[in-house]
Amino acid sequence: MVEIIAFLNKISNLTEEEEEDYLQDEIDPLLDSVAPSPCLSTSSTSLPYRRRPRLSALPCPSASPCSVTRPVIMTDLLALPDDALVRVLALLPPRELFRLRLVCRRLRDLSLHPDVWRSVGLSGGDKGLLQAALRLAPCLREVTLLSSYLQAAACTIANTKCVVTNLTLFVRTQLDAAWATAIVLRFSTLGGLREISLDLLGAAPEALPPLLRMVYGVQDLCELTVWILSDTSQLPSFLWSDMEPRPSLTKLKYKGAASDPFLCFLLRTHASTLQHVVLFLADGLPTSLLGSMPRLHSLTCRPTDDLSQLKSLSNLDTLRLMDPEVQDVPCPGTVDFLLQGPRLRHVVFSFEPNCPILGAALLEALAQSPSAPVLESLFLDGVQDSLVAPSLHRFPSLRALALELDAMPSDDFFRAVSPASTPRLATLQLVPHGCPHAWLHDPAVQDVLARNAGLHLRLSGPPTLEDDCACRWCLWRCHRDELRTHAGLQSAFSAHTRRPGCPRDCRRWL
Ligand SMILES: [Zn+2]
Ligand SMILES: [Zn+2]
Ligand SMILES: [Zn+2]
Repeated sequence: MVEIIAFLNKISNLTEEEEEDYLQDEIDPLLDSVAPSPCLSTSSTSLPYRRRPRLSALPCPSASPCSVTRPVIMTDLLALPDDALVRVLALLPPRELFRLRLVCRRLRDLSLHPDVWRSVGLSGGDKGLLQAALRLAPCLREVTLLSSYLQAAACTIANTKCVVTNLTLFVRTQLDAAWATAIVLRFSTLGGLREISLDLLGAAPEALPPLLRMVYGVQDLCELTVWILSDTSQLPSFLWSDMEPRPSLTKLKYKGAASDPFLCFLLRTHASTLQHVVLFLADGLPTSLLGSMPRLHSLTCRPTDDLSQLKSLSNLDTLRLMDPEVQDVPCPGTVDFLLQGPRLRHVVFSFEPNCPILGAALLEALAQSPSAPVLESLFLDGVQDSLVAPSLHRFPSLRALALELDAMPSDDFFRAVSPASTPRLATLQLVPHGCPHAWLHDPAVQDVLARNAGLHLRLSGPPTLEDDCACRWCLWRCHRDELRTHAGLQSAFSAHTRRPGCPRDCRRWL
């Protein structure tokens, strides 16, 4: 299998010209030598790739393994049963799949197997590739189309048979909205469309109703993201009143206004199925609609006093409060929700820039709330570590803690992370400052790992290791090569050898 991957990698690394040479140098004799086989039973002259006079034949060094092993590799590849070969093909980039189609009939057919394309995502940025995939591939996981490519894509998509699961459209003008409507119609007709993301920032509200109606009519849609900047609150609600409600959405992300009639229509007609709601709204929360969702268990929004009206959401277990422009003032409604609302297991507070007043009020409320004993994960951005340290012992069930800080956490914070105050803490995520290699050697970091035997330390970022770092650890070169590997700095650093229950990337650091 390793040899097969190497062979495929070889193919995938070729330029177009090299590929032709490679096909001529390697595949031709190979096909001549491996016959008959189900996929090679036709003569090589009938193969569907172009041939051209050889301009220069690269000398093959010595009695070279290449003349012996490469045919064996190809033979091995083609000896795989179809299902195994399909799984190998699914690992290749889409462009290489089209190149492999030139090799033989069997690869031509198998490279269009649905399992090969099921996880492929393409964008309009690579027009030729996307056009080819829409014409030939049976399915795609994701298609992303920018405003500038909507018209060209709409023409191709009008005749496509390719089933797309996740569609993202950027709409900027009235004409864009018309092309986008046609695209949604085609993919909706083919079936299989489960996620739609619409970036409508800048589009005039009067251009949007046909597109929004088309999106609403997609059957069995599970996830919908709508980003609207213009004021759609003035659109008349009768635009949606004749639409047949077919609740299917489990996740809705919406940026607009709480009084937006399309948002209200979505929340009302999908209330029975919605489980995750993300709302960034200019004017509060539609609390009466959110309060009537029996299955809602994850809510993301800005900190707002409206939250005090959602204390009866008994199934809610995840709350994310985030806003880059939030004012640093206590938010009594949110504090009230935390103190008297549902028991939360996962909480995110993410504010920029630092909000000591708001952060202190919310963290204190969380520490005193019924959620504190059952809280399992806590992500804090814009909340000072000096506020976190005294509260940690209030969260005995905490398994994951992430702290985004502009500086190294204080000694008080590191001391507060201990088996006594956080007995179940398995993952601590921090931002490394300076060289991440040197940061991992910091005595405070080493100490927190040594004192917490089950802890895994992860670095936010992703962090990078500079080639010319002159810190004493990099100059000494301890760990340096290991940390430069693909997953090196993204490992889960610990003070133990990997054991059952550990993450796959658990790596002993001490
Ligand atoms: Zn360094
Ligand atoms: Zn080192
Ligand atoms: Zn581990």
